[in-house]
Amino acid sequence: MMAGEPFVLCENLIKIYRLTADGQAGGHLTEVQALQGLDLSVLAGEMIGVVGASGSGKSTLLNILGGLDRPTGGRVVVDGKDLGRLSQRALDEYRRTTVGFVWQYGGRNLIPYLSARENITLPLLLAGQAGRAAQQRAGELLEIVGLGTRAAHRLDELSGGEQQRVAIAIALANRPRLLLADEPTGELDNATAQVIYDLFRQLNRQLTLTIIIVSHDVNLSRHVDRVVAVRDGKLASETVRRPVSRHDEAQHFEELVVLDAAGRLQVPREYLEQFHIHRRARLEVTPQGILIRPPAETQTPEQQGSIPSPVSPSEETAAPSEAGEAIPVLVRWGRRAVSGLTSLLRRRHSRQDHNATGGV
Ligand code: ADP
Ligand code: MG
Repeated sequence: MMAGEPFVLCENLIKIYRLTADGQAGGHLTEVQALQGLDLSVLAGEMIGVVGASGSGKSTLLNILGGLDRPTGGRVVVDGKDLGRLSQRALDEYRRTTVGFVWQYGGRNLIPYLSARENITLPLLLAGQAGRAAQQRAGELLEIVGLGTRAAHRLDELSGGEQQRVAIAIALANRPRLLLADEPTGELDNATAQVIYDLFRQLNRQLTLTIIIVSHDVNLSRHVDRVVAVRDGKLASETVRRPVSRHDEAQHFEELVVLDAAGRLQVPREYLEQFHIHRRARLEVTPQGILIRPPAETQTPEQQGSIPSPVSPSEETAAPSEAGEAIPVLVRWGRRAVSGLTSLLRRRHSRQDHNATGGV
């Protein structure tokens, strides 16, 4: 990977789940478009949040980034590896060596009657480490997640937040470069969630770990560098920290809409409804920026009057009009087009005459 290149890059990522309704070959086929051309880029060492309604494709995205699932289309590159093109063996190797996972019910994947240390040692032994080395590594991991003093406690004696820290320790066991967390605080109260976010930030800095956290938490943007919102399987907007003066303690956030590689952007449905914009809209360049308006015929007089039309009726070719602003534009275009067409035909006609009379 070259310096400055994103660590994670998704381009036009598509995931379609194909299901047969009766589970049999030849049965009725249903398609679910979980990701519909998602673009995302994350720098090495960044810690980002992913938000979005249930079913918008967040878990599908994490599963693909983690090598648990394959995309149907588009490109996904992590750490210089094009995951869609890896063989199954290479993808397994990628997952084992590059990625760590943290799930919502971290504690449920652990064994309640084993100690915190034993819960961490077990997967290390299963991964083939020798007993002594596994013990030692488990001790290090317990320290990293701040559970050094709780190592000997049985898992069912630990709080939900502590259990989640054991799960995070296990996720770090393979020294991943990318940590993927799917609703890691979904089961925790606010104060405990705060502690877990602080731990993620500490790991992000200490281990230069790139972290992607999926969450419903409305306060997520306070804990991460950037929040991206997924809507209908696409990246719809990003919330970034707005640069503020050093004296201003409060953090300011700004939600920004995201353009894909082709310049497309998604306008929130509620905005479109508010302005009765359906299938088509007018784009106007104004001194403040680009304005999206409903087509002229669907505008209320109030909306029409709110912004001056960029086409001035005093322009020299303007035809007189009684029927509002849109018509003169058409008339003017029509006149130019007609006169242009006429001269074109005239030219062609005289050339034909020339050819006919002069010969070759
Ligand atoms: P989120 O995590 O944002 O709630 P998901 O990524 O889990 O969303 O799901 C996105 C869409 O894909 C949903 O419509 C879901 O039902 C569907 N989906 C997810 N996983 C599968 C699967 N293994 N098989 C079929 N459909 C799936
Ligand atoms: Mg999910």
